[in-house]
Amino acid sequence: MIIVMGLPGAGKSTLLSKLKESGTDYEFVNYGDLMLKIEIGKGWVKTRDEMRKLPIEKQKQAQKLVAAWLAKQNGKLILDTHCSVNTPSGYYPGLPFAFLKGLAIEKLIYVTANVDEIIARRQNDPSRLRDSNDNIAEHDSMNRCYLAAYSAFTGAPSVIIYNKQGKLDEAVEQMKKLL
Ligand code: AMP
Ligand code: MG
Repeated sequence: MIIVMGLPGAGKSTLLSKLKESGTDYEFVNYGDLMLKIEIGKGWVKTRDEMRKLPIEKQKQAQKLVAAWLAKQNGKLILDTHCSVNTPSGYYPGLPFAFLKGLAIEKLIYVTANVDEIIARRQNDPSRLRDSNDNIAEHDSMNRCYLAAYSAFTGAPSVIIYNKQGKLDEAVEQMKKLL
């Protein structure tokens, strides 16, 4: 499994959908979709952007179910998820070690961009209810710390991809070389 993480607004989903279009033998799984299905089922949320506001205990319960499902998958998977989630209680790890333990991970990829580019992308995406733009640099540096921790814990190499404005194709190419 390859895990792709990104700062909200870095363009991770756009990059992954381009990668998918370009044809690969990997199957794509979106962590947020799996979590949303679980949390809607429990009646905790109605929409995607409510999930990170839930009490940590609930987010952890949903993560545990997603992790159990993921641990049963074999084959070539690309998992679209987050290094850390910006919750009202603080930064929360997207991949707590207890859940990471059961997964066979080949590579960890973090997608990021400059703060200005992220702000512009968030403003151009009315489908999402994004957080304030005050702590983008801080969230980005926290994510890099989590990335290093996941890499050290799993022994899988980590790569940072910069999704520069107008250079989406370059980022896709870089990603393709990593598969
Ligand atoms: P996305 O569409 O990638 O921004 O993900 C939507 C939401 O799914 C995020 O804002 C989080 O609430 C949740 N989510 C995704 N991956 C994780 C994860 N590994 N751990 C906890 N929550 C996650
Ligand atoms: Mg996304």
